[in-house]
Amino acid sequence: MTEPAESIVIAGAGPVGAVCALAMKQGGLDPLVLEARPEDTQLNDRRTLALSYGSRLILERLGIWSRIKQATPITRIHISHKGGLGRALLSAEEERLPALGYVLSYGELAQALMDCLKDAGVRMRFGVQVKNVHANSQQSKLELDGDVPDTLSARLAVIADGGRGEGTTPAKWSRDYQQVAIVAEVKTEIPHQNLAYERFTPNGPIALLPKDDGYALVWVNAPTEAQRIAQLDDARFLAELQARFGSRQGRFLSAGPRGQFPLKLDYRGTQAGEHVVRVGNAAQTLHPVAGQGFNLGLRDAWELAQSCLDMPTEDLGSAAHLERFAAGRRRDALPGIGFTDFLVRAFSTSNPVVHHLRGLGLMALQALPPARHFVARRMLFGKNG
Ligand SMILES: Cc1cc2nc3c(=O)[nH]c(=O)nc-3n(C[C@H](O)[C@H](O)[C@H](O)COP(=O)(O)OP(=O)(O)OC[C@H]3O[C@@H](n4cnc5c(N)ncnc54)[C@H](O)[C@@H]3O)c2cc1C
Repeated sequence: MTEPAESIVIAGAGPVGAVCALAMKQGGLDPLVLEARPEDTQLNDRRTLALSYGSRLILERLGIWSRIKQATPITRIHISHKGGLGRALLSAEEERLPALGYVLSYGELAQALMDCLKDAGVRMRFGVQVKNVHANSQQSKLELDGDVPDTLSARLAVIADGGRGEGTTPAKWSRDYQQVAIVAEVKTEIPHQNLAYERFTPNGPIALLPKDDGYALVWVNAPTEAQRIAQLDDARFLAELQARFGSRQGRFLSAGPRGQFPLKLDYRGTQAGEHVVRVGNAAQTLHPVAGQGFNLGLRDAWELAQSCLDMPTEDLGSAAHLERFAAGRRRDALPGIGFTDFLVRAFSTSNPVVHHLRGLGLMALQALPPARHFVARRMLFGKNG
């Protein structure tokens, strides 16, 4: 059996693949990163990410955080539901932290990461799509589609492609929420003062995340309704948003360009066989209601890198290695995924009994500091909360 050409190949240089590559490189490994996008393409992704305080700590350790110029702290989160009693307020002060999280654009994070990878000398090939990965007990073989079709062998193939190549692998847990998120930047009459909102409405949740001098909006609706709303002119868009959200931040004054994202749950887990592992959205794609997707993916990336640093090269990607990693990740991911799925379903139904119960749930959360502390810690630090 010939030795694999590479020890570690990472398919996908989105935020999760990039963090994984950087953590490995800083620990003395030499991964090769393959990215389908051509180099220097302008990212047209309007997503805004709310990073937890725990994620900030990981980015700080890797020297990425200081490269991010615009990250707006969230110091309080106001949670409510339309047409009912009950609300809860989580606060950084109560958790004795400078912030509960930070809001930044996907594009800015991606750029900061690319700069860090280049400075660290991580080997990258752009415009190369990983079409297939076959593995045996010794190594994985990646089929590549680029300028020149090619194959590559590796001891460990890390799939960080955002879940795009998983059409044929059945999900362990999946749900099509029949919802679409409209994202846009909006300005409000009252300045945000670092206050975020999560407001549940019968049509779907509305999140307002403080960003720069305005808010990043994530407004969830059924697909046809989302299509209609996203096409409204600014004045009508703002009027409908005002009617759905209410006036806690005064009037909505302006809205930037809109983007749309269909929402689903797709859990495959990190384990993909010997010598192949999934991380980030390739392992779990979540509804954004609790802002957990990237935070979980970042912990996948960090923990995978740490597990590889502790490993003799010949054991990289062995069944024992990847099973141990997967067990740790399941303990972190499954409660977060279950919580997110529960929130989406409990707050999307118009059943009057459930409506009443969720009002009571919010009241209990507000009345019981230990319950608030538990929820906040879990959202901020995952299983280490
Ligand atoms: C509306 C919305 C709001 C969200 N808000 C939050 C939030 O507030 N907080 C949070 O934590 N998460 C949030 N998320 C989730 C978050 O965006 C994702 O979890 C995160 O972007 C996943 O990163 P990733 O690197 O795994 O995948 P991606 O960001 O999808 O990156 C995948 C990369 O792989 C490349 N690629 C794809 N296929 C191949 C291939 N075959 N070969 C090589 N390269 C390939 C792509 O070009 C891309 O660069 C939100 C998601 C949505 C839709």
